[in-house]
Amino acid sequence: MADDSVPLTSAPHRRKRSIVLFAAIAAGLALIVIALYMLDRRGIVSIIHRPANEAIIRWFNDPASRAALTTTFTEPCPGYPFLVPSAGLVGGLPWNAAYGPYNTLRPHPGIDIFGDGAIGSIPVYAAYDGLLTREEGWVSSVIIRHDDPLQPGRVIWTYYTHMADESGAVSYIDGRFPPGTTGMPVAQGDLLGYQGVYNGGNGAPAVGLHVHFSIVRSDLFGRYLNEAVFENTLDPTPYLGLSLNDPKSGEFPLRCLPPNS
Ligand SMILES: [Zn+2]
Repeated sequence: MADDSVPLTSAPHRRKRSIVLFAAIAAGLALIVIALYMLDRRGIVSIIHRPANEAIIRWFNDPASRAALTTTFTEPCPGYPFLVPSAGLVGGLPWNAAYGPYNTLRPHPGIDIFGDGAIGSIPVYAAYDGLLTREEGWVSSVIIRHDDPLQPGRVIWTYYTHMADESGAVSYIDGRFPPGTTGMPVAQGDLLGYQGVYNGGNGAPAVGLHVHFSIVRSDLFGRYLNEAVFENTLDPTPYLGLSLNDPKSGEFPLRCLPPNS
């Protein structure tokens, strides 16, 4: 080696190497951040800040708290079309909840209303006038077809589920709507059934007593899409007049929004 050869560990080389290393790490971190952002509709903040829902924890751990968390609606919020379909902790799991048990990668395609009382005793009502269907084999669910009051001419559906006991042997759906019911007219406020704990039967763990309610899009033929897919559901906020997408917890019971806000 000649004297002018420069050892690889000379200061300029070390500096260059560490700059390259730093740039690679920074690029990697940037890619991770971008990937997280793309996966999350509402940005990084909700991924980092994802507390458990304190109201639900209080509801199940401390039944004495329930009276203060419960809301009962006998008519729609003023200025909004849909009736909140059952009494209880409403919006405990907002539509796109960013806190447990749902998360930003598994948003909740609806709201859950947790009733205070015995299984099969908390009524569930039709949110709006429409045509009710209960498919053959539906143990705990009904779905109602509506002309969208916020977008006349568009068909939307409201879906109600968990209305049976744990095994599915006892359905709490009203006797007016046996399996195989198709397109039966119902009016807003009609009794559909009662909140239950059914979660699929066949050994599936029961859910806490509630009704799951969602607003479902239709296909080009007006048929309902798969409710379990978040993108097939609509934000219930402008239909119910409740602030359902507030990421903060602990602000329950939810109250009606001002009309047309
Ligand atoms: Zn739900």
